[in-house]
Amino acid sequence: DVPNTTQLSTVEFSGALVGTVSLAANVGEPTGARTAGEVGARNVGLLRTEFLFEGRQTAPTEDEQAAAYDEVLSVFPDGRVVIRTLDVGADKPLAFVPLDPSPNPALGVRGLRIALADPELLDVQLAAIARVAAGYSGELWTMAPMVATPEEARWFAERARGHGLRNVGVMIEVPAAALHAERILAEVDFVSIGTNDLAQYTFAADRQSAGVAALNDPWQPALLSLISTVGAAGRTTGKPVGVCGEAAADPLLAAVLVGLGVTSLSMTPRALPAVGAKLSELDEPACARIAAAALAAGTAEGARTAARGA
Ligand code: PEP
Ligand code: MG
Repeated sequence: DVPNTTQLSTVEFSGALVGTVSLAANVGEPTGARTAGEVGARNVGLLRTEFLFEGRQTAPTEDEQAAAYDEVLSVFPDGRVVIRTLDVGADKPLAFVPLDPSPNPALGVRGLRIALADPELLDVQLAAIARVAAGYSGELWTMAPMVATPEEARWFAERARGHGLRNVGVMIEVPAAALHAERILAEVDFVSIGTNDLAQYTFAADRQSAGVAALNDPWQPALLSLISTVGAAGRTTGKPVGVCGEAAADPLLAAVLVGLGVTSLSMTPRALPAVGAKLSELDEPACARIAAAALAAGTAEGARTAARGA
């Protein structure tokens, strides 16, 4: 589903929030980077590196990875690109990584947990990222998926910095990490909230199950509460807090997220113009009002209605 680029001339926004919040594209493959560039995206807030590993019998070498990352970076010569290290799980299996045989693989060894058990694959990836970072004219940030504790965040940060990387962060996708976001931010330079998994794990509701889709609604007030905790931690520590899950693609919800302290919003490229247009109409007090109204609601539908009326 390639967006109609003629309708998407620009994603830049104007107004009072410029400088407070930045917009970025989620990219899952090199052609996705080109699409994001064509719609005017200047930053990538989530590069899903799984694309590079899928369908292969062996892991890509450091050279192969560096070439693929370079191709993406070349589309954003003076922007910021956030590369996420490999996020393997039951939903994204790889031939050369043994699958967690447990009955609940979404709760098993996946994401960063695979690297904690065997860091070799991560080390090759970090070496490739460090190599392209050295020659990149923009800002390259690196983050890990599925982090649950501050110790895991520290482990990843030490490893990435050991490869010479700057701007090292982690995703907040597990409720424990959201609750202790301030302690996690003490270990890293930034965090990015993955609302798809954060909703799944907060509501104990499989994101791939249609039967529990209502629980995975990103307007659920309990999810907003957790995001608010992370946003407050960002304000306290002065470090950036992004959102790169689907929630960022809903213009009114984007306003809520900014009101909760989120400083960058990364989304599917085709959502950028509408989110940019919405944010252009607002300032920080307006976003704070909209966020407070949504947070105070008792249901997802109630949060939507309250935000619309705020
Ligand atoms: C998320 O979980 O919200 C996220 C952005 O990561 P992914 O969808 O790739 O799991
Ligand atoms: Mg995720």
